Amino acid sequence: MNRTHNIQQLKTRQFDLCIIGAGASGAGCALDAALRGLQVALIDQNDFAAETSSKSTKLVHGGVRYLEQAFKNLDFAQLRQVRHGLNERHIVLENAPHLAQPLGLITPVFSWWEGLYFSIGLKLYDWFASGKDHLPRSRWLTKKEALRRMPGLSPHIHSAVLYYDGQLDDARYCIALVHSADEAGATVVNYTQVVGFQKDSQQKIEAVQVMDKLSETSFPIRSKWVINCTGAGADHIRQLANPACMQRIRPSKGVHVTLPYRVLNSADAMLIPKTKDGRVVFAVPFEGVLLLGTTDDPYSEQGREPILDATEIDFLLETLQPFLKEKIDKKEVAAGFGGLRPLLAPHTGNENGSTTKTLLRDHEVELDTLSGLLSLLGGKWTTYRLMAKDTIDTVCRLLGSHAACRSEKHLLVGAEGWNNQVAADLQSTFGFDADICRHLSRKYGTRAVQVGRLAQENTAWEARILPEYPFLKAEVVYTVREEMACTPRDFLARRIRLEITDWRQTKKATPIVAQLMGQELGWTTEETNKQAVDYTVLLDFFISKTQG
Ligand SMILES: Cc1cc2nc3c(=O)[nH]c(=O)nc-3n(C[C@H](O)[C@H](O)[C@H](O)COP(=O)(O)OP(=O)(O)OC[C@H]3O[C@@H](n4cnc5c(N)ncnc54)[C@H](O)[C@@H]3O)c2cc1C
Repeated sequence: MNRTHNIQQLKTRQFDLCIIGAGASGAGCALDAALRGLQVALIDQNDFAAETSSKSTKLVHGGVRYLEQAFKNLDFAQLRQVRHGLNERHIVLENAPHLAQPLGLITPVFSWWEGLYFSIGLKLYDWFASGKDHLPRSRWLTKKEALRRMPGLSPHIHSAVLYYDGQLDDARYCIALVHSADEAGATVVNYTQVVGFQKDSQQKIEAVQVMDKLSETSFPIRSKWVINCTGAGADHIRQLANPACMQRIRPSKGVHVTLPYRVLNSADAMLIPKTKDGRVVFAVPFEGVLLLGTTDDPYSEQGREPILDATEIDFLLETLQPFLKEKIDKKEVAAGFGGLRPLLAPHTGNENGSTTKTLLRDHEVELDTLSGLLSLLGGKWTTYRLMAKDTIDTVCRLLGSHAACRSEKHLLVGAEGWNNQVAADLQSTFGFDADICRHLSRKYGTRAVQVGRLAQENTAWEARILPEYPFLKAEVVYTVREEMACTPRDFLARRIRLEITDWRQTKKATPIVAQLMGQELGWTTEETNKQAVDYTVLLDFFISKTQG
């Protein structure tokens, strides 16, 4: 993943397809297409996974709530969506087991009837998933069992139900997809923004005009077909290709807050089945903290990063409080993040309505026959592979290719030969502390050996970035060289996830990371300082917004 080399490739080659957007959808398409032998370019205006694909609840799921809605409303589209999610769940877990694992979810109930209702629903969920994976089946827990598994629960519960889904490190999974696509032959580049299209006399796209945001140079990428995978921003690209396109995406903002792990003190997550505005909220353990989310509100400030504000914190904490043994204080919120769901409005002629809660979470592959632009619209993380398959099947039909999809059984970078023994092997080979070995094994899989070798090569890189965390300085060097990390935020937010777990610790790490990156990327002292200051100012802004 050498950026300079790849930019040169973009400038000189003719591609079969150019994919715009390297979130879950675009990265999934790039891998699928490269595995079928197509010549692929994948570009993103930001870092890989910088938008929604690093800001999800991180569940790999069919969606128990969608199942409930499907039965209540006899809605077959919802039912199909649950099936898609459950079919894909085991593939996501199997193709990168270092980044995705089973997760127990507990729903506390306050009466016998409620327990019965959820138990029946979850048995149906089990039944829909049966035969596809080996996750444990759901069961009804006594109050005693529930409090033992989740000591932070309120003693006022009647009992609880437990079921299983998957959990993934969303940003790292996306980077592993991009990395795998690169190794399969795709040309991948971040910080490259689409600013226009070059078209022939029939208005069909011939080339994608892009701006390399790091060198501030503009150039065309020549490609037979172009796929728009820009998530919540998809309408902008559709209308750039064909101004007559109707808007289809209705972005919906969802935020999470980060609380201390001890609030629930459990390896299981909690599902709150009904908030006061009729949605579900999850409290999910992740990276030693508890992520609580999410909200679901229409969002119209296109192009601006959706960030957590004080009222959203109040709403989420008020929702969680009745389920807890102890009072939580707003001051305990250590970080948070907001993302935009790329919800898809059906063709009803009523695309401009105001609620987002009933919109489809399923996907659609659209071909604009005038410009030839393909757009992958909607969807969710869990079904990224199926979405990519549907899209690349369409591209293959257009190209007259019969190449079959091979992504179902393709292990991602770091998953080759990975098992629970990898952490112990790292310890015996490199002598790192146990927490460092667990962290490296989980984040880089079998590629963690390369991080270990860098630490051996230069003992200055063997040190921890912060004494309380298992992150090594060698990781900065590894991610710059092997994962195209270009800024301190690329590393701290998406390569090691510190930004979403603790803003103040992230601020502490920033100058150290900027220094190491500057050495790797040849920054001047002035540039290194600017990188550190810009990110610190942004983190201060996030903190100030939560204190309103
Ligand atoms: C709060 C929240 C919670 C969620 N939880 C879950 C969950 O638990 N499980 C689940 O399965 N799904 C979940 N989802 C849904 C899932 O996260 C999204 O469906 C998925 O990440 C969308 O991926 P994407 O690639 O389509 O979009 P994105 O990740 O947003 O990627 C689009 C990319 O396009 C790039 N781009 C935009 N414009 C341009 C341009 N002009 N030039 C170049 N690049 C451009 C952007 O920089 C961005 O990186 C959640 C979503 C939200 C918001």
